[in-house]
Amino acid sequence: MSENLSVTIEQRRSGARLIKFAGSLDEHNRLRELGAKIDPGAALINLSGVDRVEDSGIQPWLDWLATLESKGIKPALIACSPAVVARFNSDETFARNAIIKSFHVPYRCVACEREKLMLVHVVDMPPDPHEVPVLACDGCDAAMTCTENAEEYLAFLRRARKPGERTRNLARGSASAVSTESLKAANAPKLQERSRPSLSAYQLHDVGRNSERTLEVLQATAMTEKRFVLVLIVCLVAAVGILVLMLL
Ligand SMILES: [Zn+2]
Repeated sequence: MSENLSVTIEQRRSGARLIKFAGSLDEHNRLRELGAKIDPGAALINLSGVDRVEDSGIQPWLDWLATLESKGIKPALIACSPAVVARFNSDETFARNAIIKSFHVPYRCVACEREKLMLVHVVDMPPDPHEVPVLACDGCDAAMTCTENAEEYLAFLRRARKPGERTRNLARGSASAVSTESLKAANAPKLQERSRPSLSAYQLHDVGRNSERTLEVLQATAMTEKRFVLVLIVCLVAAVGILVLMLL
């Protein structure tokens, strides 16, 4: 056996599989066998231990991801190593449809020459990232320097945002304006929905009652007024009649 890639599978309590890769991803692998073993469901693929990705390893890797997808598995790539991130940046299709959840950023301390990998979650990165997070050295507390060109290293993020990132992708180029608008849009209709129908229903109900009552009262008043006038006329006629009779 000359596999340069070791793969371990753990079952998590949540039911998701944690598939951990380590070593060199090249043509010497058992990915084809591994694809057949994995049942449908969620799969977290930890790539922190992948220190090399050879050109010869790309096709087996893509075929393996395709096998997972064909089984209805939605793979999420976590803790991607710098070697994997380099592939994300050089080959847009390297992650296929997998969600990239987290990756490592390599740092070095200029003062004491310590090196460190920082785990960064994609959701924590700004919408259009150009800068890596600040990291203090464990040895001398100085700010560490990213050993890669930050903008180039983070370039994959611009197309990798997948979990619920549709709006952020649309907002690109005018992030602040769009987010304000979306905030307004999110707030305004809610307020209207909450206040207007209940208020108007209440008002309509009340106004309806009032107007009905007023109408009834008005009608009643009109009726009594008519009767009163009629009675008055009858009385007057009667009085006039009596007067005429008395004079005669
Ligand atoms: Zn240091």
